[in-house]
Amino acid sequence: MHYENTLAFAQNLDAHDPLRAYREQFVFPQHKGQPVLYFCGNSLGLQPKTVRQALLAELDHWAEYGVEGHFRGELPWMHYHKFLTAQTARLVGALPHEVVVMNTLTVNLHLMMVSFYRPAPGRYKIIMEAGAFPSDQYAVESQVRWHGFEPGDAIVEVAPRPGEDTLRTEDILAVIEKQGKNTALVLFAGVNYYTGQFYDLGAITAAAHAAGAYAGFDLAHAAGNLPLRLHDWNADFAVWCSYKYLNSGPGGPSGAFVHERHGQNPALPRFAGWWGHDESERFLMRKGFKPMTGAGGWQLSNAQIFSFAAHKASLDIFDAAGMETLREKSLRLTGFLEFILEEANRKKHRFRLITPRDAQARGCQLSACTDAGGKALFDQLMENGVIADWREPNVIRFAPAPLYNSYEDVWRLGEALR
Ligand SMILES: *Cc1c(COP(=O)(O)O)cnc(C)c1O
Repeated sequence: MHYENTLAFAQNLDAHDPLRAYREQFVFPQHKGQPVLYFCGNSLGLQPKTVRQALLAELDHWAEYGVEGHFRGELPWMHYHKFLTAQTARLVGALPHEVVVMNTLTVNLHLMMVSFYRPAPGRYKIIMEAGAFPSDQYAVESQVRWHGFEPGDAIVEVAPRPGEDTLRTEDILAVIEKQGKNTALVLFAGVNYYTGQFYDLGAITAAAHAAGAYAGFDLAHAAGNLPLRLHDWNADFAVWCSYKYLNSGPGGPSGAFVHERHGQNPALPRFAGWWGHDESERFLMRKGFKPMTGAGGWQLSNAQIFSFAAHKASLDIFDAAGMETLREKSLRLTGFLEFILEEANRKKHRFRLITPRDAQARGCQLSACTDAGGKALFDQLMENGVIADWREPNVIRFAPAPLYNSYEDVWRLGEALR
């Protein structure tokens, strides 16, 4: 696409943006009386205006009914996780019974590894990307140790080639093929939090299965960023959080996907709680755990109503906009950001983009690897009303969210950088 570095060009794109009205549905932090330029939806999405009402409604529900709130009203708490199912399934490309909203992300990663990391002496390795998000690294390391293996031996990391910033799919597949017969689990991000690279999840899954291993994904930076097709890709499991692109508020709940071939297998080992028990018998309070079919059979506890209510308000917006439409805008908006960042960088080279240039191999985030003055540059942006984020040791991440960012925001970022 052809781009121009003028305000009029950006405003014209906004005028023709079919999603432009969604911006009005979000609350923007202010800087000197003006909305900030917010490029941090990859870390904490902005607040949908409908969230306040949704939370107040649950406070009223509690006030009015007390414990009866579990069974009464429009959204009885007892069933609250089910009110999120249809939208969640569409969001990640799953069948409804393959998804559930529960707990938080790292908790769910552990729960999934309880079921899908079942190491045996000859098959105990986990293949993952080098530089995975630290919480995932800690989760994997502790699981490996808990099973009596050594992380240095059991964890195989796939790293970029010397001089390269991101992974080549062929290299990922080659490692899986080479280590395959010793591998229990292949665990990748959907989109890497640091580089913004979107991995080929279908190809990784196929390679893992060909090697006799499970394939699981952490979609923290992919859910709400790109259309996903977890069922068709044939992933065994996936987990994600809802406070990044999914705008559900700090500490918001996590989602989990379990492919139906596993969801229908009650014999699959798991850690259990009453909310995962066969619903028709849950309140008989009898001995003997009998999991409900589907991802719901991994639930432990009853729903966290306030965070689920915020999540529902946000999911309603995603469902109305549609991930395919969001992606269309996102491709154009991030393409414009790429153009504007290059324009701003042309005279003085202050940074280098490390995110793949192939738009199909990234979501909306672009990561700028800075020179020695990077932190000062970042601080200066913040002082001028630009909210992006800094990741040690030297990267500034910019993520224009197609629901609420405009082309004008991107153009103004270029001005601020200059
Ligand atoms: C954001 C993020 C997390 C954070 O996990 P929480 O349990 O929600 O605190 C974990 N993993 C990845 C890949 C992330 O991007």
